[in-house]
Amino acid sequence: MPNKFKNLSHDFPILKRKINDEPLVYLDNAATSQTPNQVLNRIGDFYQHSNANVHRGVYTLANEATAAYEQVRNQVAAFINAPSAKSIVYTRSTTDSLNLIATSFGNLVVTQGDEILITIMEHHSNLIPWQQLAKRKHATLRYVELNADQTLDMADLKHKLTNKTKIVAITQTSNVLGVTNPIKEIAKLAHQHQAYIVVDAAQSVAHQKVDVQDLDADFLTFSGHKMLATTGIGVCYGKPELLAEMPPVQFGGEMIESVSRTNATWQAAPWKFEAGTPNIGGVIGLGAAIDYLSEIGMAEINAREQQLTAYLFPKLTAVNKLTIYGSKEASQHAGIISFNLGQLHPHDVATGLDMLGVEVRAGHHCAQPLMATLGVQATVRASLSFYNSVEDLDRFVQAIQMVKEFFA
Ligand code: PLP
Repeated sequence: MPNKFKNLSHDFPILKRKINDEPLVYLDNAATSQTPNQVLNRIGDFYQHSNANVHRGVYTLANEATAAYEQVRNQVAAFINAPSAKSIVYTRSTTDSLNLIATSFGNLVVTQGDEILITIMEHHSNLIPWQQLAKRKHATLRYVELNADQTLDMADLKHKLTNKTKIVAITQTSNVLGVTNPIKEIAKLAHQHQAYIVVDAAQSVAHQKVDVQDLDADFLTFSGHKMLATTGIGVCYGKPELLAEMPPVQFGGEMIESVSRTNATWQAAPWKFEAGTPNIGGVIGLGAAIDYLSEIGMAEINAREQQLTAYLFPKLTAVNKLTIYGSKEASQHAGIISFNLGQLHPHDVATGLDMLGVEVRAGHHCAQPLMATLGVQATVRASLSFYNSVEDLDRFVQAIQMVKEFFA
């Protein structure tokens, strides 16, 4: 392993704490990532030295705050290779971004009889906004199914993508199966049918290089808290010409150009979508998180996480009565492994692991239609990050054996 990944717990003080008297092994990174000192310090620094509202004052502090807030927009654009900072809308989260797209853009382009194509592996955040849009517009929501190996069935996608399809909304990496979908190919197919593609990058943007122009994504969404920043800050990338046509869905301060008693006009994108005082501290932290990730390098982070997954996967498959969901290939798991242990309830497994200091998620992972397709109510999910160590993974496998013996 490259040296860059040694002693990272200095940056992440939480990784040094104990849970139930055991050293913490944090394996719920798909739910939220931990936040390094560099991000916390940048936010603290902002509040200690430059705090003011953005876009309002003509005084020094307000100018500093506005400049810092807008500078991060440039950084986000560079991070995902967006054509312009104006194609970056700050939101609360991936969920907020997807709701913005489904409400504003969806209402604009989807009409009765149209089809919206999603996949059965979507998180509820990339499912319910489209389900609601389909109901509003009397359109049809269709699902691409899985292959026998629980990867995306591209033949089914090609079959269901027709000239009736207006929007294809798809996750880049599944938060349950860990599989990464061929977004570039799917975008090309969607565009051949004059459909738009919305990419949910919540589980990918912190784990691989994402390039919106290379993917030719019309929209791409992600959350700061899954990429070392804090909760309450998200991003909605949109092609500039699409954002320009879209109406705002929230109204109030900051987003207007002028207001009279009877009417109002809006600023251009992205500001017309950012009504009210935004999460300025969150944006500042997002900039620091991008610096942190970029300093290590997304290719190196990806390689490190693949190495860790390749180390863990065979150790898990060797555990008797442990069923892994998704592909049988470690390389298809992008650091996310969902499993069940015999007939044990996933909550019992996760509680047992917690007793031993290992934090994993158990439940339906906000993907109930996928759970139904897999024929289960819930799974246990371990999701790792570049800051996990091989020792973490050994302790996790050892803890699984102990939980198994305890319930035997
Ligand atoms: N999409 C995927 C694939 C996710 O894994 C998640 C969160 O787990 C979301 C969307 C929603 O993210 P947020 O809760 O930050 O809006």
